Amino acid sequence: TSFGYKQVREEEKSTLVGNVFSSVASSYDLMNDLMSAGLHRLWKDRLVSKLSPFPGMKHLDVAGGTGDVAFRVLDSIKSERHQAMRGTFNDDEEDTHIYVCDINPNMLNVGKRRAAERGYSEEHGLKWIQGDAEALSFEDGSMDGYTIAFGIRNVTHIEKALSEAYSYDVYSFSVIPAVGELVAGDRQSYQYLVESIRRFPKQEKFAQMIQEAGFERVEYENLVGGVVAIHSGLKL
Ligand code: SAM
Repeated sequence: TSFGYKQVREEEKSTLVGNVFSSVASSYDLMNDLMSAGLHRLWKDRLVSKLSPFPGMKHLDVAGGTGDVAFRVLDSIKSERHQAMRGTFNDDEEDTHIYVCDINPNMLNVGKRRAAERGYSEEHGLKWIQGDAEALSFEDGSMDGYTIAFGIRNVTHIEKALSEAYSYDVYSFSVIPAVGELVAGDRQSYQYLVESIRRFPKQEKFAQMIQEAGFERVEYENLVGGVVAIHSGLKL
């Protein structure tokens, strides 16, 4: 065959990751709660509080799945807007755009449904886009923030995703589980995911990779003793 072994494995990995999330999309949120005992909610709260969203923000949440991070960003802006309304803030000037980008349309569809339940629509600046973390299609420098929560590990080339992140944003934040993961689907997919967790670089090494992509002031915070960590960096 004209395909190298590595290349075939990489293609297989993308397909498998796709299959896993297609099959779990409808039960994803419930499983997340069960498998983290609800803790993922606190981790996402912490992520968004570190991001400090603001009215008018252009934010890109990659591997955004069913919208958990995006909803928190919007909730946070809404509560800030509430406070600002008492001051001089002009609602018309607000031009908030939160983009949820995910490779899997099933996850996005669940997210759109959840958004409707919460009363969030395009009018609130929420947009759902199917796309690959390794090849984003936004204009360079068009974002104020970038997050990728529990998603970087599923990406085939971490460096590519990081350099894409660097082209778009001012901040980059990411949550990485060192152990423990939502897994479902067939055995082969399961093995790929377990493997991807095992192979994912340790906190220090991942911080270095973020730095190598160009970000400055890179830091990370370990949660629950390093089972999960939030990495952050700035494009200055
Ligand atoms: N961020 C969400 C959360 O924290 O609940 C979803 C995390 S889920 C574990 C991982 C998501 O990454 C899935 O929705 C999957 O479709 C998406 N994904 C995997 N590879 C991707 C890629 N190359 N580009 C964009 N999204 C990807």
